Amino acid sequence: MKAGGLDTWKSRILAVWPACAPYLDQITDFAQLTLARYGHHTLLPQRGERIVFLGDAAHATSPQLGQGANMALLDAAALDEALRRSDDLDQALDVYGALRRNHIKLFQALSLMLTPFYQSDGRVLPWMRDTLVAVAARVPPLPQMLGAMVAGTLLDPLGRIGLAEPDWTAIAGALGSTEAPTQEKA
Ligand SMILES: Cc1cc2nc3c(=O)[nH]c(=O)nc-3n(C[C@H](O)[C@H](O)[C@H](O)COP(=O)(O)OP(=O)(O)OC[C@H]3O[C@@H](n4cnc5c(N)ncnc54)[C@H](O)[C@@H]3O)c2cc1C
Repeated sequence: MKAGGLDTWKSRILAVWPACAPYLDQITDFAQLTLARYGHHTLLPQRGERIVFLGDAAHATSPQLGQGANMALLDAAALDEALRRSDDLDQALDVYGALRRNHIKLFQALSLMLTPFYQSDGRVLPWMRDTLVAVAARVPPLPQMLGAMVAGTLLDPLGRIGLAEPDWTAIAGALGSTEAPTQEKA
């Protein structure tokens, strides 16, 4: 990227997103930029001797699946559930690990597998993402599976920690009914 010079880099970005121009105008040197490096690590079991790990400290990934905050909140809810289930701390931390293990393993594996499709120097995987996957993603049951993947609901992480997924259809309906009058006024 640097070899091509600042202007070449800017013109590539502007070709994709012209509205970035005011931001790009402020950059006069590559040194003003910070390179984002993403690490991938999984700590299993998510506990040690009288210590417990939640969120990125236990399972960091690239942000492609948009699941990091979601996973951290699931960890917190699972720890709460585990502490309710047992008065023995050691046992409760084991329960916490068991409640989260499979979901974490699945999403860590998915993230590791899918990241190169979004961030890599290769040409083949991004091409597959933009062409083959874009078409395949319209064929059932892939839309449902992809939806569950980006919602983090594969393997039902909520049920096992005593929570239930909200009725999104009802919520969307309720939001629609509150938004409708505003639209009428406008
Ligand atoms: C570019 C990008 C986009 C993302 N997009 C999404 C998304 O769309 N959806 C999603 O769910 N997730 C997303 N994530 C991931 C998400 O931000 C993280 O997974 C989530 O913030 C992890 O929460 P955490 O509480 O484990 O860690 P953090 O949010 O990192 O919190 C850790 C806190 O500990 C503090 N800390 C560190 N060391 C010490 C210390 N020694 N003493 C005291 N405090 C300390 C830090 O300052 C920080 O405030 C994204 C991440 C990035 C980088």
